[in-house]
Amino acid sequence: MSDELMKVAAANLKKAVPLMLKHQIPTTPTNYALWYTYVGERSPELNKAMDRVLEEFQTCPPSRTELLYREYVSDPVELDVRQLQQNLEAMVIELSQSVKDTNRDADIFQKQVKTNFAKLGKLEEEALSLEQVMDLVRNFVNESDKIRASTAYFIGQLQKAENEIHHLRERLEQTEKDSLHDALTGALNRRAFDADLAGLLNQAAEGTCLILLDIDHFKAFNDNFGHQLGDQVLKTVAQRLGDFCRDGAKAYRFGGEEFAIIIPGSELKRARHLAESLRRGIEKLAIKDRRKGGTVDSITASFGVAQWQQGGNAHQLIEKADSLLYEAKRLGRNRVMPITN
Ligand code: GH3
Ligand code: MG
Ligand code: MG
Repeated sequence: MSDELMKVAAANLKKAVPLMLKHQIPTTPTNYALWYTYVGERSPELNKAMDRVLEEFQTCPPSRTELLYREYVSDPVELDVRQLQQNLEAMVIELSQSVKDTNRDADIFQKQVKTNFAKLGKLEEEALSLEQVMDLVRNFVNESDKIRASTAYFIGQLQKAENEIHHLRERLEQTEKDSLHDALTGALNRRAFDADLAGLLNQAAEGTCLILLDIDHFKAFNDNFGHQLGDQVLKTVAQRLGDFCRDGAKAYRFGGEEFAIIIPGSELKRARHLAESLRRGIEKLAIKDRRKGGTVDSITASFGVAQWQQGGNAHQLIEKADSLLYEAKRLGRNRVMPITN
């Protein structure tokens, strides 16, 4: 039954009430059906017959009602009532679905549905007055509208909350990223280094290796080529280190022109080889000097490589790598220490 037909049915019910009152007709389902059809003017035969009865008796006596009902009404009206009921049921199912979807007011709504179904059931069992039927329909439509509105409002609120959560999450991610990354090079910073190394050593991660590297004569580089190009070197080196990192190895900006690489579950030999590849990679760098023109290709770095030992702490591991790095500097720079392994 469409909304339009539903409106017609309701309007017919409204018209039927005063007429039934006027003729003092008891509000039984049969009477209701009969008068409903009468005001709907869908059966001219019935209307003619009823008009004759009304003229004769000034009312419609039960005996005539029964006859008229059986002859003109029973089928179509029963069908209408059933359709009305089905329409309401469909509405309930649709709303109940949307409520379920939003997961809200489900309990209250289910109770309302039950009550309304129980009331609808009475349409057939009991002699509900037309007013009662109308009230029932009106209430039902009202409740449905309320639920529709609150559901729409809820969805709106949910959407808003979701958007807010999304923005908050983005901001949080950005803040986290900012706090763990170095602004100049974009590499992980010292803070991330400390956290990652502590995390690894707390699990006593066997084979953890550390590479520390320091760019050679960088003060002189800045003096010769300017701080800006120096910055460019740091960015390029950071990128190169990142590109080399595989199998869980991570590169960090440890301090000014010093970088670190943590390699979990490795061997000193492998770590040393990685350091050697990095050393060669940096040695080959050619950075364009926009200010003076040409390229700068004299960048080198010195490396110290150490492996964590059972029972040792982060500080000891850093000290070891740092002292080897110092050794590399002392021996002439642009090299990896230890040599053997
Ligand atoms: P060594 O080979 O012994 O390491 O010599 P070095 O000159 O590299 O070492 P030193 O510690 O004397 O100087 C480090 C220089 O690194 C000094 C500082 O200006 C430069 N530096 C540190 N951070 C930055 C930065 O963010 N940008 C630039 N351009 N330079 C930096
Ligand atoms: Mg240094
Ligand atoms: Mg240096």
